[in-house]
Amino acid sequence: MNELNFKFDFSYTKLPRVFFSCLKPQTVKKPSLVMFNQNLAHDLGLFTQTETGTIDQEKIEQILSGNKILADTQPYAQAYAGHQFGYPTVLGDGRAVVLGEHITKESKRFDVQLKGSGRTPYSRGGDGRAALAPMLREYLISEAMHALGIPTTRSLAVIATGEDVYRETALPGAILTRVAQSHIRVGSFEFAYLQNDIQILQQLLEYSVCRHFPELKGENNLAELFLQAVMDRQVDLMIDWMRVGFVHGVMNTDNMSICGETIDYGPCAFMDAFDMGVVFSSIDRHGRYAFGQQPNIAQWNLGVLAQCLAPLMANDAKDAYVIAKERVESFLPNFEKQWLSMMQKKLGLKSQQKGDLDLIKNLLTWMQKNKVDYTYTFYCLMQESLPNSDNEYDLIYKHKDFIHWYQQWKQRLKLEKYSEKNALKLMQKYNPVIIPRNYLVEEALQKAQNDHDLTLFKEMHAHLSKPYSEQKNCEYLIQPPKPEDQEYITYCGT
Ligand code: AMP
Ligand code: MG
Repeated sequence: MNELNFKFDFSYTKLPRVFFSCLKPQTVKKPSLVMFNQNLAHDLGLFTQTETGTIDQEKIEQILSGNKILADTQPYAQAYAGHQFGYPTVLGDGRAVVLGEHITKESKRFDVQLKGSGRTPYSRGGDGRAALAPMLREYLISEAMHALGIPTTRSLAVIATGEDVYRETALPGAILTRVAQSHIRVGSFEFAYLQNDIQILQQLLEYSVCRHFPELKGENNLAELFLQAVMDRQVDLMIDWMRVGFVHGVMNTDNMSICGETIDYGPCAFMDAFDMGVVFSSIDRHGRYAFGQQPNIAQWNLGVLAQCLAPLMANDAKDAYVIAKERVESFLPNFEKQWLSMMQKKLGLKSQQKGDLDLIKNLLTWMQKNKVDYTYTFYCLMQESLPNSDNEYDLIYKHKDFIHWYQQWKQRLKLEKYSEKNALKLMQKYNPVIIPRNYLVEEALQKAQNDHDLTLFKEMHAHLSKPYSEQKNCEYLIQPPKPEDQEYITYCGT
């Protein structure tokens, strides 16, 4: 046991040496705690309080800044490769180290990683550091995703380093403690494949199976079943992203976790007005990672994974190709089936009826054509009657095409065997009332960074912990932003 009660194991570093480099995080000048996730700390079974019951800030600052290395630990950075915007590159944790794999009382294993902890052998030209605002952004959005019930890496703490990082200007630096089921990515398999040694590939496969899909252990066609299991998790994840309007923004293969968690909150954003083609990232000029492209890109990434696993699927390359192709091609049809079912539930429909797909598509087409807010529309459908105010964003629901659609939907609801009250209950599970509105996230981050004022940030964080319920004083998160507030651009290189 150590001071924070981390129960660290180091299974990853039993893999061949090429997969990681052992190194300590670089120390920082003046660590100070900005955010700490007490609920997560509690769930992990950490000891974070002093004898008098207050939070032990200094201990947390020392350990989660990397200034103090706990006894018996051997932090490491992971090597991986990846396709970035379609092009292969060799990468690795360029600004992160895993402190260890924490084992909870329930025997669950989580990587505890410091992000922004200094240069590593994989830093290439980078400084190994991170700025405060993007780390707070990851903290807020990842915790919001968790509260939405979407698999994600978690955020335990943000610690300001007391040092500047230099991007276009000098910015306050910070370190995020990220907690993940693992950091094994599609890119980890690309890295293993590049070693040109089937033993190494096999070892990573067996390790990943043990860690995430133990039910597959001992199967003959392990690579094929593993591919399928990863695909199944990705279908679920894409369905969740499409359900709440999440745009990841940089779905490179190195940012796709094999356990199906959302990972790497760089240029992500939440869609306001419904638009299949919406892109927020400044560098995604051709819309490769646009909202509606995400399932296609997931399939593309899984195709890369399948290629890497192919040597383990059959001795003959042609046979392996046929097996892999068949599996990968099943991804989109499976996604579409589940997408329909998810969208039906967003409309309170439990049974499957013939015209449902058209009903859904008609609503989405209307929203897209008229630039109508995705989250707010479903919020309105959950109210007893349609909005009746003179607000610009409410007036759109008086549109004759919408009224026509609304009447058709009400008719369709009558075909369900259960009451409208039950339909509403179903809708309330699938439709968040609030999402992190981009312009408000930005405002909160600017206040935190420029004025050291975390009031709005913490307020939003608290509201977003209950995204499916209507809370007091959260109208600002419910209302669709004004058109000028919807012009939102996100940046990489954070
Ligand atoms: P990302 O776009 O965050 O997925 O990062 C892509 C790659 O760049 C990863 O290998 C990161 O570790 C690396 N990277 C990002 N920022 C930095 C930085 N400031 N210093 C060193 N490496 C970085
Ligand atoms: Mg990444």
